[in-house]
Amino acid sequence: MVSEKFIELIKSEETELFLNEPMNLHTSFRIGGNADCLCEVKTVRALRNVVLLCKENAVPYFILGLGSNLLVSDDGIRGVVIKLSGEFNNITSLDNDMVRCGAGVTLAGLCVFARKMSLGGLEFAWGIPGSVGGAVYMNAGAYGGEIKDVVVSTTYMNSSGEICRYDRSELDFAYRHSVYTDTDHIIIDVTFQLSQKNQDEISDRMQDLMNRRRTKQPTNHPSAGSVFKRPEGYYAAALIEECGLKGCAVGGAMVSPKHSGFIVNEGGATAKDVKELVEHIKRVVREKKGVELCCEIKYIG
Ligand SMILES: Cc1cc2nc3c(=O)[nH]c(=O)nc-3n(C[C@H](O)[C@H](O)[C@H](O)COP(=O)(O)OP(=O)(O)OC[C@H]3O[C@@H](n4cnc5c(N)ncnc54)[C@H](O)[C@@H]3O)c2cc1C
Repeated sequence: MVSEKFIELIKSEETELFLNEPMNLHTSFRIGGNADCLCEVKTVRALRNVVLLCKENAVPYFILGLGSNLLVSDDGIRGVVIKLSGEFNNITSLDNDMVRCGAGVTLAGLCVFARKMSLGGLEFAWGIPGSVGGAVYMNAGAYGGEIKDVVVSTTYMNSSGEICRYDRSELDFAYRHSVYTDTDHIIIDVTFQLSQKNQDEISDRMQDLMNRRRTKQPTNHPSAGSVFKRPEGYYAAALIEECGLKGCAVGGAMVSPKHSGFIVNEGGATAKDVKELVEHIKRVVREKKGVELCCEIKYIG
């Protein structure tokens, strides 16, 4: 638990604090116990202050994007959950078809901005329900595109409060991996290289990809997207379906009857339900197919 004294220290005009905040309100799975403290930071200055105070007081912090790739423990999260707002939601158009975007901006917001500016390159991201920070952390991708294809550089804050930068060549992007994976660096903003494209063509591509998503994925049920990474040479969803696990359920968690790569919250699912179902799927796929599935979703808490 964080102390009242610590809460007083991080309180400022540039932060908004929510104590014992239910994390199921902040995850697309609609699962998760309470966070000791959810702290919305509106400025880089406030972010530095919170990070340094966490370090000084040995309070752990976790950076929350839009919570679309997370399974948060039923016991919640100890310490401070930091959410970027205010100036982290700015988007600026730069010369040569480049765009600088705060890490708190939604991918949807960025895609709409790019379309308005007749800039192509981000259409693949339309429909991925994350933030720009979360998308870079995960190297999010779909339909043949990945964030790595359009990122030029990123600015981040380390746990000492220093602002640093990674250029494209330093970002170590791979499938659902970046240099930020499993670090406590906080992505602040991201610069993208896009290219001039006709607005109607951009719209058509976005609409086409959204239609495909709605046809294939259980977009009207709470989930965290694909639960497992794509194993080399296979598709996780196909393996799961071939093992007869479509519709398999533990408590309120179910392998989606529409897309076997997704686990959906059918109502009242707990993190424990999801974890048990994940372990069951991994065991059956290992036994029947000899393939080891690895989770794409992050377990927190
Ligand atoms: C219906 C559905 C469909 C999906 N489809 C796709 C898809 O097609 N392709 C795909 O790749 N993903 C997909 N996802 C998964 C998810 O949307 C992506 O992984 C997304 O990039 C996560 O972003 P987020 O902001 O929600 O991050 P979160 O889930 O909040 O966090 C994920 C990780 O990123 C870290 N993080 C977030 N912001 C920052 C920051 N500013 N600095 C440092 N670390 C940060 C977090 O600490 C955490 O470790 C889907 C999810 C759902 C629910």
